[in-house]
Amino acid sequence: MELERVIEIMEREGEKRKAPVLTLKQHLTTPFMTLVFVLLSARTKDETTSEATDRLFRVVDSPSQLMNLSKDKIEKLIYPVGFYRVKAGKLRELGKVLAEMYNSDVPETFEELIKLPGIGRKSANVVLAHAFNKPAIGVDTHVHRISNRLGLVKTSKPIDTERKLNSIVADNLKVKLNRAFVAFGQSVCKPVKPLCTQCPLAGKCPKIHVKK
Ligand code: SF4
Repeated sequence: MELERVIEIMEREGEKRKAPVLTLKQHLTTPFMTLVFVLLSARTKDETTSEATDRLFRVVDSPSQLMNLSKDKIEKLIYPVGFYRVKAGKLRELGKVLAEMYNSDVPETFEELIKLPGIGRKSANVVLAHAFNKPAIGVDTHVHRISNRLGLVKTSKPIDTERKLNSIVADNLKVKLNRAFVAFGQSVCKPVKPLCTQCPLAGKCPKIHVKK
């Protein structure tokens, strides 16, 4: 099956089953919000990240405002996201770097994004795709797991999945891939007990590493 069709099916299933990632549009309105959202989202459920981002953006609207908040205040606003103390510190640093080095804009290259406090490869790629519509694939646990189950890649590390997907996926699909795979991973192809008997891809999927 063509990957384009697979992505369409994943998006449709995610919408039908109300996958949390598809309810987050309000956090993707500016590159700065997207950047803060992805920083907060590591090891945290989308619903929790969403609420924390809402609370934070009721108080801050710019990198300089973020930089000028106390770490204690940020911790209170973003709690209970995972590692909220570490992330509060990273957010302050992030605000300072953006305000002082980028004139309060978010940089648009992978090389610059990856150097920002609290931003790793996955986050940088998600920001490129979601905030700037650039062909980049953020490989998180859902993308890594589902790509292997479907047999698109045969990898044990997310970095290898990212490299392989980048070599086989067309640019116009890279932008959509993370969101579709995450939605599908949250709602159908779950980490534990994927819903294979209800899955519209079951007939084509080799179900690699899925326990019977
Ligand atoms: S058949 Fe099972 S393993 Fe394959 S994509 Fe569907 S839910 Fe995932």
